[in-house]
Amino acid sequence: MVKVIRAHQPGGPEVLQLEDIDLPAPGPGEVQLRHHAIGVNYIDVYRRTGAYPAEFPFVPGHEGAGEVIAVGEGVKEFQPGDRVAYVGALGGYSEARNISAASLVHLPKSFSYATGAVMMLKGLTAQYLLRRTFRVKKGHRVLVHAGAGGVGQLLCQWASALGAKVTATVGSQEKAEIAHHAGAKHVILYREEDFVQRVREITKGRLCDVVYDGVGAATFPASLDCLAPFGMFVSFGSASGPVPAFDLALLAQKGSLYATRPSLFTHIADRRVYEDMTEDLERAIKRGHLNLDVAASFPLEEAAKVHAALEARQTVGSIVLTP
Ligand code: NDP
Repeated sequence: MVKVIRAHQPGGPEVLQLEDIDLPAPGPGEVQLRHHAIGVNYIDVYRRTGAYPAEFPFVPGHEGAGEVIAVGEGVKEFQPGDRVAYVGALGGYSEARNISAASLVHLPKSFSYATGAVMMLKGLTAQYLLRRTFRVKKGHRVLVHAGAGGVGQLLCQWASALGAKVTATVGSQEKAEIAHHAGAKHVILYREEDFVQRVREITKGRLCDVVYDGVGAATFPASLDCLAPFGMFVSFGSASGPVPAFDLALLAQKGSLYATRPSLFTHIADRRVYEDMTEDLERAIKRGHLNLDVAASFPLEEAAKVHAALEARQTVGSIVLTP
């Protein structure tokens, strides 16, 4: 038996229940691992509420790190005792789990389990957004919404290390300092200030080359007004609700803009690409371009409390659960 957090129906944080379940031996191509750290992500909230599809009951969580305890038939790349990390199928909020070996990477010795647990989903998201979706270069003007959040801070750090001029929006003064510290040259309190107006002032009317928007409904369509002609609107999440359907002609009116709605899971579907992205991320961490310290760690049984705080905009940075 292993302890897990399970949801039996969609709903608020209270549907996350601590339970004991049987863990079968790993199947062919699977690895069984004991978690040392489990990444908490906003996507876990979408799954819990039913905003993103999931078959109930389910164990939330797409990201974690731990130690291999058994391997299934045909698994050659991993063996018991290996330190590993993953982004992959649901099942993360657990003491131990089975997962496809294709989702795992070896965790470098110099990385802690906590780093491993936030590096995969959040770190690889920052990687593909900055390096594969819009390739950020020196001098680019970049706007990052929710710049003190988990993914937000990584975007600010890495984009500024790449030489971009980063502006971040945040929900409070305390978060403003955090986003500054993460590399945002300018920070906008978007609950109090008109962020389009502030972006115009900050960029002296030149506007941004790219907007990274994980906030969604609350910042749309204003995010488009922050873009220079031919700029790229990257809508990668919807913490405030989904972006509504809109007339594509809006992109022409706002300056021949590009818009994309990418997902990490498309990028990592090809194992070679997944490995290349992970190598690039590990390089950036080793060069000091990214700081993957966790902001807070909670026992697994407090998952509901963590979800409530995440939805109430009370968290900053990356959070892990520990079994
Ligand atoms: P965060 O730590 O960034 O938490 C979400 C933040 O969004 C809050 O702290 C808050 O910051 C901001 N926010 C704005 N409006 C709201 C609202 N109404 N309710 C709640 N939060 C709000 O979470 P993550 O780092 O886990 O994820 C960030 C975004 O990235 C999410 O939208 C997530 O879905 C997306 N994502 C997308 C991926 C992809 O491949 N497409 C992969 C990974 C993440 P503030 O108070 O500063 O406004």
